[in-house]
Amino acid sequence: MSTQCEICGQQTDSNGCKYCGDVSSGEATIEIFWCADCNIPIIKAVGSIDRNICPLCNGNTSFVSVDMRPVFPEERLLIEILSGKPLEYLNKSVWASKNRYFIDGKSTPLITDSYRKKSPQKISEEMELYKERNTYTFFNENIQRFIKANKTRLDYICHEAFCFIEETSKNYSQECIVTSFSGGKDSTVTADLTIRALGNPSLVHVFGNTTLEFPSTIEYAQRYRENNPLAIFKTAINKEQDFYKVCEDIGPPGRMIRWCCNMFKTGPITRVLNSIYPDKEILTFYGIRKCESVTRSKYRRVEDDAESLKIHRQKVASPVFLWRDIEIWLYILSEDLDFNDAYRMGYDRVGCWCCPNNTLKAQFLSQIYMPEQSEKWRNFLIDFARKIGKPDAENYVDSGSWKARQGGNGVAAANDIKIRYTNCTTENNAKVYELNKPINDSFFELFIPFGIMAPELGRKLIKEVIIIDEKTKVPIISIQPFAQEGYEYSVKIRTMNVKKHDELQRTVGYQIKKYNACRRCLKCESLCKHGAISMTKNDYRIDSAKCMHCKMCVSTKNLDGGCLMERCLKTKV
Ligand SMILES: [Zn+2]
Repeated sequence: MSTQCEICGQQTDSNGCKYCGDVSSGEATIEIFWCADCNIPIIKAVGSIDRNICPLCNGNTSFVSVDMRPVFPEERLLIEILSGKPLEYLNKSVWASKNRYFIDGKSTPLITDSYRKKSPQKISEEMELYKERNTYTFFNENIQRFIKANKTRLDYICHEAFCFIEETSKNYSQECIVTSFSGGKDSTVTADLTIRALGNPSLVHVFGNTTLEFPSTIEYAQRYRENNPLAIFKTAINKEQDFYKVCEDIGPPGRMIRWCCNMFKTGPITRVLNSIYPDKEILTFYGIRKCESVTRSKYRRVEDDAESLKIHRQKVASPVFLWRDIEIWLYILSEDLDFNDAYRMGYDRVGCWCCPNNTLKAQFLSQIYMPEQSEKWRNFLIDFARKIGKPDAENYVDSGSWKARQGGNGVAAANDIKIRYTNCTTENNAKVYELNKPINDSFFELFIPFGIMAPELGRKLIKEVIIIDEKTKVPIISIQPFAQEGYEYSVKIRTMNVKKHDELQRTVGYQIKKYNACRRCLKCESLCKHGAISMTKNDYRIDSAKCMHCKMCVSTKNLDGGCLMERCLKTKV
């Protein structure tokens, strides 16, 4: 009997999923044991018979953790300085798992609290002092042992990943296969696996440069291009917006209001994909992993549900979906791949340096490694906190409370999402809406999703534009520029020949809101499957030749209140 695999979404039979293989048949796939004699972690599949035996020395091992990552000498020196013992662990095997460090296999509660005890500048100076003596000699030897001891595991996960990539891509031509390159470790491994599996060094890479990357990410991307000269490397970047300017306007992003993701990441990536593949189905290999976060665990290994992906006309698949940190590092170190230096410094994840999802540790590291930017951002956040009336602005920022901000309380731009209207006294089903700027052509285009624009049917004298239903050709909306007492700019919208006037007026309201509040976040542009919506320098345009009237852009399912700004700027009454 055929069923759908819960992990990868492919059709499988009762013998298990042939696409995922054994790797994905269970939840916890590996355990990590420590060999005290070899002084290294050993990766074992859960339940394997020889789980307590070291493959190098045949000695006994004991369980240490479910996952681990190597601690590079730079981060090691940092924790040594924080605990006042520089170079103490120079010749020790240092690993980490979440907030714990393991020194020669022994769990050591370190730092976390000591972050604040020394000034970042002082730490920076001390790091400089010991830099020369902080060598990679022991580290490299230890890693070589780790690689040798875990070779079987590496061969297994590589073989599985190669099969997965071959199987997933069999119906796609090589030109329609893309790898999403973020500069992080998972995408580094994904790109390498994909190039090897497909035997194609000319693979298309799309690098989403958010303009908020760590300097080490930009440097790494540059090195990657130089080291992979045959790769087609496209950079997706939004050069039309300035992060700080947008923050001043609508407030900084928060965990619940990450407008920046659309504006600086998914929006520009979608633009690049749409420009290379205007009408083709594509397959993107990306480095998403199940264990990375709660929301990510909802994804499947192969995903073609565009809703959850934000980018249309593509299937995405992750060869490293079930890999743990230690397996990612085993691959990178075994294959001697170049990688982002941020990991040497101690960052667990690579992304925007100002992301509200970053940990306190990441913020602390940024104070050390990018002091000017950190200071500038902190000062901005404090200023902003004062502006919106937070009593203890410094504490509000330093404690991380700014990350929990929701909506637009205290932000002037919040007025733009409030729909102001009066019911017309002379006509039925007509409302007069207040606009915050004069009407231009782009305003009328906002009504294209409802039907076909028929200006010839409107009364010329009052500059009326009529929208007719795309199927019945009956007029359904009348748009009239209008003067209303108390409103500087206004428009009268009348609905006709429809059953549900209120419902149509509600969605009309969404378009009015877009006209008043659009910040060119690129959400609508990415949302439109037909490429009908585009953001120009100042305007939101809809191409009537491309619009299929699917109404995705006016559905609350996709956009709360019809506009991403609704979520960012709504205020409590
Ligand atoms: Zn051993």
